[in-house]
Amino acid sequence: MINILDKKDCCGCTACASICPRSAIEMKPDVLGFIYPEIDKNKCTDCGLCDKVCAFNDNYDKSLNLSEPIAYAVRHKDMAEIMKSQSGGAFAVLSDYVLENGGVVYGVGYNGHFVATHKRAVTKEQRDEFRGSKYVQSDLTGIFKQVKDDLKNGQTVLFSGTPCQTAGLNSFVGKTLRKKLYLVDLICHGVPGPFMWRDYLNYLENKYKRKIIKVNFRDKAFGWKSHKETFLFAGSTSSTSFTYIFYEHIAFRMSCGNCHFTNLKRPGDITICDYWGCERTDPKLGEDNQGCSLMICDTAKGLTFFESVRDRMNIVPARLENIIQPNMEHPSVLHPKRLDFENDYEKHGFKYVLKKYGTEPLWKRAYRFARKCGGKVLRMVGLKK
Ligand SMILES: Cc1cc2nc3c(=O)[nH]c(=O)nc-3n(C[C@H](O)[C@H](O)[C@H](O)COP(=O)(O)OP(=O)(O)OC[C@H]3O[C@@H](n4cnc5c(N)ncnc54)[C@H](O)[C@@H]3O)c2cc1C
Ligand code: SF4
Ligand code: SF4
Ligand code: SF4
Repeated sequence: MINILDKKDCCGCTACASICPRSAIEMKPDVLGFIYPEIDKNKCTDCGLCDKVCAFNDNYDKSLNLSEPIAYAVRHKDMAEIMKSQSGGAFAVLSDYVLENGGVVYGVGYNGHFVATHKRAVTKEQRDEFRGSKYVQSDLTGIFKQVKDDLKNGQTVLFSGTPCQTAGLNSFVGKTLRKKLYLVDLICHGVPGPFMWRDYLNYLENKYKRKIIKVNFRDKAFGWKSHKETFLFAGSTSSTSFTYIFYEHIAFRMSCGNCHFTNLKRPGDITICDYWGCERTDPKLGEDNQGCSLMICDTAKGLTFFESVRDRMNIVPARLENIIQPNMEHPSVLHPKRLDFENDYEKHGFKYVLKKYGTEPLWKRAYRFARKCGGKVLRMVGLKK
């Protein structure tokens, strides 16, 4: 039976709990809301299925991967679709195709009060909720079984999620049902915990004494390359502390510092992400700062899928050496105070950690400001473009 001795060895994908024939595994949250399997030894028969299904290791299934993936810079042909998407509208293109052909799409929307949750969509209206990155770990409860049921019923299914979720689902579904399953993974930096996100929303609502009615984790109104979240209250206001915490890697799941998917043997059929550095492929691509996606075809099925939708996008082939970003090479390095953060959170709560870790130190702000001003000066004297 599965036995997680170190949190870094479990990504919380739920595959083990979903496969257990005795319902002996319950996924239980820790103090930050990250879930881990807990086994009821009275129910367990030691069948070993949970150990076998766990794909959070270097032996995840790569049997269908092309010897080398094929990458394209892509942008939806419809600018309105790009504006509704986090990067260049890659997900909209892929999911539109599946829905138009009678299939089902799984992605991350919200339940309750902005709880990031994997959901099932059969119409474009339902799917639209999945647009936009929610930079927090999503709730997958019951989803793997639902996907398997859809596949058993002969449905075509597109599942989009983080690489660890995609690898977990692939392992859970198994080879025979894989034919009609399109796995779309992301390049992934890491995920903060759901409880912290919940407490952050509470904190903001108390501070502004109004309910939040809309959330945008990375608002394109500030440009695609900026990382600012906005919250719409009864009036409108914005804040940036959560993004700061996100990029400092202080609140990530421990497994994100031990991620097994930071390479080009992707666990998806197609990988989508922001194409940072798209200018290297074509200087015009990032010009309007409204988003450019990278689409990586990882398997023969992914390549055929890409061919079916290529007419919907403006595409430029991308050389592999031009697409590499840090999380394709190594896991995010967790903040040295990651464990202190968790302990403080447990002892003192959200407001305390926000004050202690959630704002950019003065020296960093000064450094950023100096770099920005330095850039302007260098541009003025013609030493920088
Ligand atoms: C936690 C996280 C970390 C990321 N890190 C990077 C990175 O380091 N580098 C990079 O280039 N890109 C990263 N991305 C991907 C990027 O932000 C865009 O989601 C991606 O480029 C797709 O954009 P789009 O325009 O095609 O999709 P959109 O139409 O905006 O769709 C968003 C897609 O992301 C999925 N999604 C949203 N929130 C979550 C979530 N919490 N968990 C799982 N799936 C989710 C949706 O289901 C949908 O498929 C990350 C995304 C997430 C969610
Ligand atoms: S060993 Fe078998 S019965 Fe026991 S928890 Fe794992 S899957 Fe369930
Ligand atoms: S990584 Fe997934 S399958 Fe493995 S122990 Fe964690 S939840 Fe279970
Ligand atoms: S960084 Fe790795 S372990 Fe963390 S959420 Fe992303 S894919 Fe999963």
